[in-house]
Amino acid sequence: MTQVAIASHPVAMSERRSDHLWRPYTQMKLAAPPLEAVATSGSRIILADRRELIDGIASWWTAVHGYNHPHIREAVGDQLARMPHVMFGGLTHTPAERLAARLAVLLPGDLNHVFFTDSGSVAVEVALKMAVQFWLNRGVQGRTRVLAFRGGYHGDTMGAMSACDPDEGMHHRFGAYVPAQIFCELPKNAEWEAALDATMASHRHELAAVIVEPLVQGAGGMLMHPPETLATIARLSRRHGLPLIVDEIFTGFGRTGTLFACEQAGVVPDILCLSKALTGGTMALAATVATSEIFSAFWSDDPAQALMHGPTFMANPLACAAANASLDLFETEPRLAQAEAIREQLTAGLEPLRAAKAVADVRILGAIGAVQLRGNPDLAALKAAFVEHGVWVRPFGNIVYLTPALTIAKDDLDRLIEAVRGIVSGLS
Ligand code: PLP
Repeated sequence: MTQVAIASHPVAMSERRSDHLWRPYTQMKLAAPPLEAVATSGSRIILADRRELIDGIASWWTAVHGYNHPHIREAVGDQLARMPHVMFGGLTHTPAERLAARLAVLLPGDLNHVFFTDSGSVAVEVALKMAVQFWLNRGVQGRTRVLAFRGGYHGDTMGAMSACDPDEGMHHRFGAYVPAQIFCELPKNAEWEAALDATMASHRHELAAVIVEPLVQGAGGMLMHPPETLATIARLSRRHGLPLIVDEIFTGFGRTGTLFACEQAGVVPDILCLSKALTGGTMALAATVATSEIFSAFWSDDPAQALMHGPTFMANPLACAAANASLDLFETEPRLAQAEAIREQLTAGLEPLRAAKAVADVRILGAIGAVQLRGNPDLAALKAAFVEHGVWVRPFGNIVYLTPALTIAKDDLDRLIEAVRGIVSGLS
């Protein structure tokens, strides 16, 4: 992995904090000033004051190959010299054509029709629009709602927000403004399947689709569910004739130990959403992929039956080049074996924390390790403590978690685990 010569990076803006930036999920009045990053390399974030932090969360679960992988950098550099961007209306280009064809091969079943956008939330918006218009194009009125699951998170835009857990902290203030969806629990007891079946049966005439995160509900609390849960949801959706949208924005590209999480349940959804690690975490790109059956509802002599969506930067060639290079790395480097090694290391390192006073649960799945704390920890203090330990770990709610790059060195992961163990064991 390339070493970053820190001295060659522009000197930081250091003391000069911008008054003009509005930051994500941040109470601007209360929050500590952000740290300034000047470079990234492998699993390291290099700060303006020259400290190096080991990144435990791969920049919001994106940088699966670590930062600055030379293969992706070269591919983006070549594309930058040739054609950084061109509009996608009426034009096409090799990076997008190639990427769509490769995704169609890699994804299970006949998920063959790829619609590119530029963020996970928008990939979900497109999936919801596809589902609603699927019914309209078939002449069926009134199917405008989705069945979603408590604990779920699908993004921050209006439609995506409507499918998030309605009571969780992120979006509950917008309840009156977003479409009202139907919510079900994920299995907590033996009656779950019957209850889901009954809800689907009673609402099927108003439902356009079912949407779920496969195997793990990420931002909703790293809630993990066995593959049978997804298989049951798929079976019931099919029984009631409801298209299934699987949101693999967090899980896609090796995070759960297989390239896509739905493989573990043997499920082929009708629509599948990808983003985050699609470009190895280097560029903003997302994809909503539909089966031939969904696509065929839009294939018509009637222009009004077209999918009316088209972001300006759709299929940006730089992002597609990055994604193609990222897929090359899944072919040439042992990412899934690395995910399995991370799982073993996380299990050995984090499971003993079950005995700690402050710990309510420990959950491991693939290259995801989550420690659920009791009560409401002081998140700001926890985040600061991790930085003091030289690691970048960002707890949310009562969850401390690790989702490192799949390429992380064993020693670096040891240091991350030690930091989690040290800090969590010290909590009362
Ligand atoms: N869906 C899932 C499962 C996610 O985890 C996220 C982001 O964390 C999103 C959708 C939204 O993606 P983005 O933040 O790129 O809009």
